[in-house]
Amino acid sequence: MKRRPAPIDYIVSNHDLSRVRNEVELRVVSAMRKMLKDNKKFDGCQLCTEDIYALSLNRLTAKYVQVGTIILKKETTDEEVNEVVKMTIEQVVNKPNHGD
Ligand SMILES: [Zn+2]
Repeated sequence: MKRRPAPIDYIVSNHDLSRVRNEVELRVVSAMRKMLKDNKKFDGCQLCTEDIYALSLNRLTAKYVQVGTIILKKETTDEEVNEVVKMTIEQVVNKPNHGD
């Protein structure tokens, strides 16, 4: 198992980038909690939970990358977070990685 990232892992050129990442992470977690609670298709297993989290995060951080140097300034709206998490949940519950 990989070690958890330490705050120093997020320092680039004396700037702490962990705040940006943590913010998106926490918003994904919060959206997942709300949406998965009432999702009847969600099997609740660790693999699916991790898949939804990782895929959502990838999609949202990819959005950051696409806007180039505006990365750290652009706000990801709650609508964007909700839309991405919702779409990702649908994808994972309908086709889980463990193939059930
Ligand atoms: Zn599962």
